[in-house]
Amino acid sequence: MKATLAPSSLISLPRHKVSSLRSPSLLLQSQRPSSALMTTTTAASRGSVAVTAAATSSVEALREGIAEFYNETSGLWEEIWGDHMHHGFYDPDSSVQLSDSGHREAQIRMIEESLRFAGVTEEEKKIKRVVDVGCGIGGSSRYIASKFGAECIGITLSPVQAKRANDLATAQSLSHKVSFQVADALEQPFEDGIFDLAWSMESGEHMPDKAKFVKELVRVAAPGGRIIIVTWCHRNLSQGEEALQPWEQNLLDRICKTFYLPARCSTSDYVDLLQSLSLQDIKCADWSENVAPFWPAVIRTALTWKGLVSLLRSGMKSIKGALTMPLMIEGYKKGVIKFGIITCQKPL
Ligand code: SAH
Repeated sequence: MKATLAPSSLISLPRHKVSSLRSPSLLLQSQRPSSALMTTTTAASRGSVAVTAAATSSVEALREGIAEFYNETSGLWEEIWGDHMHHGFYDPDSSVQLSDSGHREAQIRMIEESLRFAGVTEEEKKIKRVVDVGCGIGGSSRYIASKFGAECIGITLSPVQAKRANDLATAQSLSHKVSFQVADALEQPFEDGIFDLAWSMESGEHMPDKAKFVKELVRVAAPGGRIIIVTWCHRNLSQGEEALQPWEQNLLDRICKTFYLPARCSTSDYVDLLQSLSLQDIKCADWSENVAPFWPAVIRTALTWKGLVSLLRSGMKSIKGALTMPLMIEGYKKGVIKFGIITCQKPL
């Protein structure tokens, strides 16, 4: 299954918001047109019905691609790295060679640092209901449920992940607090205004429509609720710069194709989006230096005997993923990829 693009019509910022974006990259930095997008564009001249059909099938193909990717790769990741499918947070320039458990602690630290950055740790009594958008196998939900005594609902596109997440919740006697289901972050099956915390740990990368993704987080957040988006982005464009350099686009294209990342943006694009929705206490930070040891460590574990055997058993998507890891390191080293946290509060 090839990653397909959401047509640009689905990256649906209203026109006035588009022009207010400091950088139009939210709309422009999608992967180069795939045949799916071409079909849509050609169809556009023939009528809107054809456009809608092509758009729908392209979105469905993307959802399917992401689901299959995680159906295939989650078991391998869990076997080697445990139940958190995200970067660890490290002290910058730390030269200590960490053990496996040290890296797992760094992943927990990522959750803790994110909550602290967003000011949630001081308000923990207020956190009663949490949505974990793009929940993987539920590591964040179970951690947050245990920490705050909160109820967490996680959504993922992968049925394999949802089942595993629920099984782990049962095994850890947390099934009265946390549950997981297959649902799309862009059409969340929840009422408006019900979550004290809307949490997205490294799922924003997969969203074909960042504006819709953010709007859904805001819609389901309760008044006064916090929104936390932790995600890797491309670098912010400088003043007057219209797009990334061709070599940067090329590098990102190769990564995005393997990992099913249909559209990309910078952290300042996210900030602009949150500002356009009149959210409060908007904050962002660049944590690229804090995640630097992560991918080299993942590569080291993949190159162990156990890692290699598991990789070969897991299948082509995992192998392609592993071969793409050095590009992530290159992206960080060259400053094209930035690891960011963006947080805000929904007004009361
Ligand atoms: N947050 C988890 C997993 C990160 S992996 C963790 O930190 O462990 C990315 C996750 O995003 C996967 O679970 C994938 O299914 C989910 N995802 C990607 N696109 C999605 C979408 N449109 N709707 C819901 N989940 C999505």
